[in-house]
Amino acid sequence: MKVDVLSRKGPEMKFSVDGVKPAFASALRRIMISEVPTMAIEFVDFKKNDSALTDEIMANRMGMIPLTFDPKAYSLPGECKCEGKGCSSCQVTLVLKKKGPCVVYSGDMKSTDRSVRPVHDKIPITELFVKDEEVQLEAVAQLGRGRDHAKWQGAVVGYKVEDNKKDSFVFNVESISGIEVDELVSRSAELLETKFDEFGKAVKKLK
Ligand SMILES: [Zn+2]
Repeated sequence: MKVDVLSRKGPEMKFSVDGVKPAFASALRRIMISEVPTMAIEFVDFKKNDSALTDEIMANRMGMIPLTFDPKAYSLPGECKCEGKGCSSCQVTLVLKKKGPCVVYSGDMKSTDRSVRPVHDKIPITELFVKDEEVQLEAVAQLGRGRDHAKWQGAVVGYKVEDNKKDSFVFNVESISGIEVDELVSRSAELLETKFDEFGKAVKKLK
Protein backbone atom coordinates (compact mmCIF):
# COMPACT_ATOMS: atom_id res chain seq x y z
CA MET A 1 0.00 0.00 0.00
CA LYS A 2 1.21 3.49 -0.85
CA VAL A 3 -0.28 6.74 0.42
CA ASP A 4 0.55 10.16 -1.05
CA VAL A 5 -0.81 13.49 0.13
CA LEU A 6 -1.65 15.45 -3.04
CA SER A 7 -2.79 18.70 -1.42
CA ARG A 8 -3.77 20.15 1.94
CA LYS A 9 -5.51 23.46 2.43
CA GLY A 10 -7.39 24.50 5.57
CA PRO A 11 -9.94 21.81 6.44
CA GLU A 12 -9.47 20.03 3.08
CA MET A 13 -7.07 17.28 2.09
CA LYS A 14 -6.58 15.24 -1.05
CA PHE A 15 -4.57 12.02 -1.01
CA SER A 16 -4.10 8.90 -3.07
CA VAL A 17 -4.03 5.31 -1.84
CA ASP A 18 -2.43 2.71 -4.12
CA GLY A 19 -2.61 -1.06 -3.89
CA VAL A 20 -5.91 -1.55 -2.03
CA LYS A 21 -9.26 -3.15 -2.84
CA PRO A 22 -12.46 -1.09 -3.30
CA ALA A 23 -13.79 -2.55 -0.03
CA PHE A 24 -10.84 -1.04 1.84
CA ALA A 25 -11.42 2.39 0.28
CA SER A 26 -15.09 2.19 1.23
CA ALA A 27 -14.31 1.15 4.82
CA LEU A 28 -11.82 4.01 5.21
CA ARG A 29 -14.39 6.51 3.93
CA ARG A 30 -17.07 5.27 6.31
CA ILE A 31 -14.75 5.44 9.30
CA MET A 32 -13.75 9.03 8.51
CA ILE A 33 -17.42 10.05 8.30
CA SER A 34 -18.99 8.14 11.15
CA GLU A 35 -16.46 6.59 13.55
CA VAL A 36 -13.90 9.24 14.49
CA PRO A 37 -15.08 10.90 17.74
CA THR A 38 -15.69 14.66 17.60
CA MET A 39 -16.99 17.21 20.14
CA ALA A 40 -20.54 18.61 20.14
CA ILE A 41 -23.05 20.03 22.60
CA GLU A 42 -25.33 17.32 23.97
CA PHE A 43 -27.25 18.96 26.86
CA VAL A 44 -28.40 22.55 27.40
CA ASP A 45 -29.70 23.86 30.72
CA PHE A 46 -31.67 27.07 30.10
CA LYS A 47 -31.79 29.57 32.98
CA LYS A 48 -33.42 32.22 30.80
CA ASN A 49 -34.52 32.36 27.17
CA ASP A 50 -36.47 35.45 26.07
CA SER A 51 -35.58 34.92 22.40
CA ALA A 52 -38.11 34.00 19.70
CA LEU A 53 -36.70 30.46 19.43
CA THR A 54 -37.90 27.71 21.75
CA ASP A 55 -35.41 25.99 24.05
CA GLU A 56 -35.54 22.81 21.94
CA ILE A 57 -34.77 24.57 18.65
CA MET A 58 -31.95 26.54 20.21
CA ALA A 59 -30.43 23.42 21.79
CA ASN A 60 -30.63 21.69 18.42
CA ARG A 61 -28.89 24.60 16.69
CA MET A 62 -26.17 24.67 19.34
CA GLY A 63 -25.58 20.93 18.89
CA MET A 64 -24.65 21.51 15.25
CA ILE A 65 -21.86 24.02 16.08
CA PRO A 66 -18.49 22.32 15.43
CA LEU A 67 -16.18 22.54 18.46
CA THR A 68 -12.39 22.19 18.63
CA PHE A 69 -10.94 19.95 21.35
CA ASP A 70 -7.77 18.25 22.48
CA PRO A 71 -8.16 14.60 21.34
CA LYS A 72 -5.74 13.44 24.06
CA ALA A 73 -7.72 15.10 26.86
CA TYR A 74 -11.17 13.62 26.22
CA SER A 75 -12.76 10.16 26.15
CA LEU A 76 -16.09 9.03 24.76
CA PRO A 77 -18.57 8.95 27.69
CA GLY A 78 -19.02 5.18 27.26
CA GLU A 79 -15.26 4.59 27.45
CA CYS A 80 -14.51 7.02 30.28
CA LYS A 81 -13.19 6.07 33.73
CA CYS A 82 -16.36 7.59 35.25
CA GLU A 83 -18.36 4.89 33.40
CA GLY A 84 -20.54 7.45 31.65
CA LYS A 85 -21.62 9.39 34.75
CA GLY A 86 -19.90 12.52 33.42
CA CYS A 87 -16.58 14.01 34.53
CA SER A 88 -13.92 16.45 33.32
CA SER A 89 -12.43 13.74 31.05
CA CYS A 90 -15.63 13.29 29.05
CA GLN A 91 -17.61 16.53 29.47
CA VAL A 92 -16.99 20.24 29.13
CA THR A 93 -19.28 23.11 30.08
CA LEU A 94 -19.90 26.20 27.97
CA VAL A 95 -21.70 29.19 29.46
CA LEU A 96 -23.73 31.70 27.46
CA LYS A 97 -25.06 35.01 28.82
CA LYS A 98 -26.28 37.75 26.53
CA LYS A 99 -28.62 40.76 26.79
CA GLY A 100 -30.51 42.32 23.87
CA PRO A 101 -30.84 43.86 21.49
CA CYS A 102 -28.26 41.70 19.73
CA VAL A 103 -27.58 38.59 17.71
CA VAL A 104 -26.32 35.71 19.86
CA TYR A 105 -23.36 34.04 18.14
CA SER A 106 -21.44 30.81 18.69
CA GLY A 107 -18.47 32.92 19.76
CA ASP A 108 -20.48 34.28 22.72
CA MET A 109 -20.22 30.89 24.46
CA LYS A 110 -17.53 30.86 27.15
CA SER A 111 -15.88 27.49 27.52
CA THR A 112 -14.41 26.14 30.75
CA ASP A 113 -11.61 24.52 28.70
CA ARG A 114 -9.48 26.60 26.35
CA SER A 115 -9.07 23.69 23.91
CA VAL A 116 -12.86 23.49 23.45
CA ARG A 117 -14.32 26.39 21.46
CA PRO A 118 -16.40 26.93 18.31
CA VAL A 119 -14.51 26.46 15.03
CA HIS A 120 -16.35 29.56 13.74
CA ASP A 121 -17.30 32.46 16.04
CA LYS A 122 -19.98 33.99 13.82
CA ILE A 123 -22.57 31.22 13.65
CA PRO A 124 -25.87 32.88 14.68
CA ILE A 125 -27.74 30.98 17.43
CA THR A 126 -30.66 33.33 17.97
CA GLU A 127 -31.55 37.02 18.06
CA LEU A 128 -32.74 39.21 20.94
CA PHE A 129 -34.81 41.98 19.39
CA VAL A 130 -35.78 44.03 22.44
CA LYS A 131 -33.69 45.81 25.07
CA ASP A 132 -33.09 43.68 28.19
CA GLU A 133 -34.29 40.45 26.58
CA GLU A 134 -31.93 37.80 27.86
CA VAL A 135 -30.40 34.43 27.15
CA GLN A 136 -28.69 32.59 29.99
CA LEU A 137 -27.71 28.96 29.71
CA GLU A 138 -25.16 26.27 30.41
CA ALA A 139 -24.32 23.76 27.70
CA VAL A 140 -22.49 20.48 28.11
CA ALA A 141 -20.42 19.17 25.21
CA GLN A 142 -19.11 15.64 24.86
CA LEU A 143 -17.46 13.38 22.32
CA GLY A 144 -19.62 11.29 20.04
CA ARG A 145 -19.59 9.56 16.67
CA GLY A 146 -21.31 10.45 13.39
CA ARG A 147 -23.08 7.09 13.40
CA ASP A 148 -24.92 8.16 16.59
CA HIS A 149 -25.94 11.63 15.39
CA ALA A 150 -25.03 13.78 12.38
CA LYS A 151 -23.82 16.56 14.71
CA TRP A 152 -20.75 14.40 15.44
CA GLN A 153 -19.97 13.69 11.78
CA GLY A 154 -16.23 14.24 11.39
CA ALA A 155 -15.92 14.94 7.70
CA VAL A 156 -17.35 14.91 4.21
CA VAL A 157 -15.46 12.30 2.21
CA GLY A 158 -15.51 11.24 -1.41
CA TYR A 159 -13.15 9.14 -3.50
CA LYS A 160 -12.73 8.07 -7.10
CA VAL A 161 -10.85 5.32 -8.85
CA GLU A 162 -7.75 6.69 -10.49
CA ASP A 163 -7.76 6.48 -14.31
CA ASN A 164 -7.28 2.95 -15.63
CA LYS A 165 -6.01 1.63 -12.29
CA LYS A 166 -8.33 -0.66 -10.40
CA ASP A 167 -6.42 -0.58 -7.14
CA SER A 168 -5.75 3.14 -6.84
CA PHE A 169 -8.04 5.69 -5.22
CA VAL A 170 -7.99 9.45 -4.82
CA PHE A 171 -9.69 10.71 -1.66
CA ASN A 172 -11.15 14.17 -1.05
CA VAL A 173 -11.66 14.85 2.64
CA GLU A 174 -13.11 17.97 4.22
CA SER A 175 -13.26 18.17 8.00
CA ILE A 176 -16.58 19.68 9.09
CA SER A 177 -15.80 19.19 12.77
CA GLY A 178 -13.32 20.61 15.26
CA ILE A 179 -10.70 18.01 14.41
CA GLU A 180 -7.82 18.89 12.04
CA VAL A 181 -8.11 17.03 8.73
CA ASP A 182 -4.73 15.26 8.97
CA GLU A 183 -5.50 14.17 12.55
CA LEU A 184 -8.85 12.85 11.32
CA VAL A 185 -7.24 10.81 8.54
CA SER A 186 -4.61 9.29 10.82
CA ARG A 187 -7.22 8.55 13.56
CA SER A 188 -9.30 6.75 10.90
CA ALA A 189 -6.36 4.56 9.93
CA GLU A 190 -5.79 3.69 13.62
CA LEU A 191 -9.48 2.86 14.11
CA LEU A 192 -9.49 0.64 11.03
CA GLU A 193 -6.46 -1.21 12.38
CA THR A 194 -8.12 -1.68 15.79
CA LYS A 195 -11.24 -3.05 14.11
CA PHE A 196 -9.21 -5.64 12.14
CA ASP A 197 -7.40 -6.53 15.34
CA GLU A 198 -10.65 -7.06 17.25
CA PHE A 199 -12.05 -9.06 14.35
CA GLY A 200 -8.94 -11.27 14.31
CA LYS A 201 -9.22 -11.93 18.05
CA ALA A 202 -12.94 -12.73 17.78
CA VAL A 203 -12.29 -15.20 14.97
CA LYS A 204 -9.57 -16.93 17.00
CA LYS A 205 -12.04 -17.41 19.85
CA LEU A 206 -14.38 -19.28 17.50
CA LYS A 207 -11.80 -22.03 16.97
ZN1 LIG B 1 -16.05 10.76 32.41
